[in-house]
Amino acid sequence: MLVIKGGHVPGVGVADVLVSDGVIAGIGSFSAPEAIDADGLVVLPGFVDTHRHLVQAPMRGSGADLSLGVFMAEVLPRLVLSPAEVRAAVLLGAVEALNAGVTTVLDWGHGSAVEAEAEALLASGIRAVHGVSSLEAQRYAAAGLVTGAVASFGPMLSLEDNARDIAVARSLGMVTTMHITEAGAVARLADAGLLGPDLHFVHGNAATDDELRMLVDAGCGLTATPPVESMMGHGAPVFGRFLSAGGAPALGVDVVINSSADMFEQMRAALWLERLRGLPLAAGPLLRAASSDGARAIGLGDVVGSLQVGKRADIVLVDGFGHLPPDLVAGGIVATAGVSDVRTVLVDGRVVKRDGLLLDHDLSGLRAAVADVARRILA
Ligand SMILES: [Zn+2]
Repeated sequence: MLVIKGGHVPGVGVADVLVSDGVIAGIGSFSAPEAIDADGLVVLPGFVDTHRHLVQAPMRGSGADLSLGVFMAEVLPRLVLSPAEVRAAVLLGAVEALNAGVTTVLDWGHGSAVEAEAEALLASGIRAVHGVSSLEAQRYAAAGLVTGAVASFGPMLSLEDNARDIAVARSLGMVTTMHITEAGAVARLADAGLLGPDLHFVHGNAATDDELRMLVDAGCGLTATPPVESMMGHGAPVFGRFLSAGGAPALGVDVVINSSADMFEQMRAALWLERLRGLPLAAGPLLRAASSDGARAIGLGDVVGSLQVGKRADIVLVDGFGHLPPDLVAGGIVATAGVSDVRTVLVDGRVVKRDGLLLDHDLSGLRAAVADVARRILA
């Protein structure tokens, strides 16, 4: 049992958060054998990244001038890794995420070494939804904080392939996650009667407003990845249009080849792009897209995503905003926070980062371990 003492809890004020057996046991005034001093810090639910290809972590920053077409045609085919390299790459990506306060990630698996990916996710300490093929999903063994989902590629597949993947996921009680880019993909799935709250889509830049309403009506999740979509030519992010359609968009890092590894940049890019379009979006509520709305989009809405008694204790303490009146804190974080403000991170009640330092992993060492992989692929 531990208590996070005296932090600012948005919507509550200064309060203690009691953690017991991995669960948020109370928000109020408590004492416990172990205490984390949160004086001057903001207590937030851990961030939920609903779409990331963790295996690409070694290639961080390499795609600043890459279009999606060139990436798919020329870079992705060169991403041939041994199982040991996959393990090291995914571990690096997951630890980078934890360092940034991302406590849950939907990792879109690389496909070649599912067991190595699962081992790395488990070893990292992050909560992960591991997207694998429908074939792999049928023999997937959930372990610890790592559960499976069906990753159904999307536009490259036929409707029959998508339907088969969705049927497999439903038989296993898993979420199906799918890339969509072009207009008409959602309508085809809707016409086939396949939409439902267990489906999670990514990008959707060219989806029509009618299609976005179909997703809202069916309770589907939708994730925008604004920096990557802006950098690689996917088209304008769908974030604001999905909000206007009545939806609750989620956010994902997607790839660190041209986006930073944290959710601050995702929130900020969504805010900037929508305000440029003329949508009078308030900053503070974007925290929900990166936490509770994200959790709901990938089937974990009852488990994590908010500071609520009974939910799993995935918690982030953010520094640098203790001077603000309470009503400005959330917006201030969205507008200006960064990874260096992430002081302490708990996943499932376990402290993985404390006072700015990762407890279980050495990020520099993990980067060094895959430097040769990046050099080989990028040569
Ligand atoms: Zn993707």
